Amino acid sequence: MREDECDVIIVGGGLVGATLALLLGEAGWRVTILDAAPAPAAAGPSGEGTPGEGAPALRVSALTAASRRLFTSLGVWPWLAQRRAAAYRGMQVWDSEGGGEIHFDADDVGVDTLGHIVENDLLLAALTRRLETLPNVTWERAVRVTAYRREAGQAWLTLDNDETRVAPRVVGADGARSPLRSMAGIAVAERDTGQVAVVTSVRTAQGHGGIARQVFLPGGPLAFLPLAIDGGDTHCSIVWSTTPAQAQHLTQLGESETGRERLGEELTQAFGARLGRVDVIDAALAFPIAQRHARRYVDAGLALVGDAAHSLHPLAGQGVNLGLMDAAVLAEEWIRARERGADPGDPRILARYERRRRSENAAMLAAMQGFQRLFGSRSPALRLARNWGLGGVDRLLPLKRVMIRQALGEYGDLPKRCR
Ligand SMILES: Cc1cc2nc3c(=O)[nH]c(=O)nc-3n(C[C@H](O)[C@H](O)[C@H](O)COP(=O)(O)OP(=O)(O)OC[C@H]3O[C@@H](n4cnc5c(N)ncnc54)[C@H](O)[C@@H]3O)c2cc1C
Repeated sequence: MREDECDVIIVGGGLVGATLALLLGEAGWRVTILDAAPAPAAAGPSGEGTPGEGAPALRVSALTAASRRLFTSLGVWPWLAQRRAAAYRGMQVWDSEGGGEIHFDADDVGVDTLGHIVENDLLLAALTRRLETLPNVTWERAVRVTAYRREAGQAWLTLDNDETRVAPRVVGADGARSPLRSMAGIAVAERDTGQVAVVTSVRTAQGHGGIARQVFLPGGPLAFLPLAIDGGDTHCSIVWSTTPAQAQHLTQLGESETGRERLGEELTQAFGARLGRVDVIDAALAFPIAQRHARRYVDAGLALVGDAAHSLHPLAGQGVNLGLMDAAVLAEEWIRARERGADPGDPRILARYERRRRSENAAMLAAMQGFQRLFGSRSPALRLARNWGLGGVDRLLPLKRVMIRQALGEYGDLPKRCR
């Protein structure tokens, strides 16, 4: 690739990198995505393996209203929503060790939904479909970036096939362990939460009724996220954050038919049978949970977005939403700079991006850490406080409204397309 052929290289074509590529590509930027992952496998002869068809995917995300507005403005949402996206109107959170419980309802703030649960592979397919219509965006798959240097005002990236790619700007959207972040020498603050998230898919005897539910157990939170499969409401995606030992036990159960029966019984019991009997319909996968925050989001001609900049506990389902806001703010700053005739390489523009995003991401990371401490504690005083807290907040509508606005992603310095 010649030095003047590309405006920006995005390392990582996950949900955040692909969204940034679409934002910049639509504005006429010449974008190259480099992704280590191979192209998704083609669907089978009768359509099996097609994202959004058949059994639900194991990886799902709760998307906020702000993220949905971003995807609507990019023409991604209608296609996705026609296939499979489960709207939820309510949220219930309770403590297994006491009577504290809180309910949120879309009516509390006069909106139709509090969010949507979407399957990650379907969302990525929707983004890919739009990106394929843009001739100025190139997506190179199954190529791993192995070295990075900045020289003569350009980013030089070496690939694992020994080829080199060059561009004036580079973005690290390469996930929580971001190789580009390390190659650029950007330090990261890291905290092991001591928990592992186990995900699986289930059917429940009673319908979820469009409500996302989460119980705080002594080992960590267990979420039942509502799915809409074949128009029914008896499927949920499970995220059970727990100790490494229990996570290993749960994933082992997911390996056999009899084990899954047992896993269903354990889920039914841990969830207080709120949705009746639980049947596990897929394997169980484990994801260690570490909270990470890059010390800097930017360097000369370089920006980090999404999990490469910050990764957090999945208990509030905010990770990808924060990353999407990073992408939207970075694109907004760069596109505006170019429209004004300013040099998008000006370090002040990248500094503005960092200023707009860092404090909000830091606040969410701190909140997740606080939640985990409060609900992970066995201290009787803290148990009393959290039960009182849940019950107290439940009775305070103004405070609940503030919390719902947070869950909707409607706070802080939102990029224009998400307002
Ligand atoms: C169990 C669980 C549940 C979650 N639930 C939610 C939720 O409900 N809501 C929510 O908002 N968030 C949720 N999250 C968080 C969310 O999944 C992440 O924040 C999000 O996927 C991060 O997206 P990303 O594009 O930044 O990174 P990734 O999805 O990690 O993508 C990184 C990409 O970079 C590529 N890559 C890596 N290294 C290289 C390299 N050297 N060269 C080229 N390419 C490279 C990879 O192939 C990959 O495609 C959850 C996370 C977990 C673990």
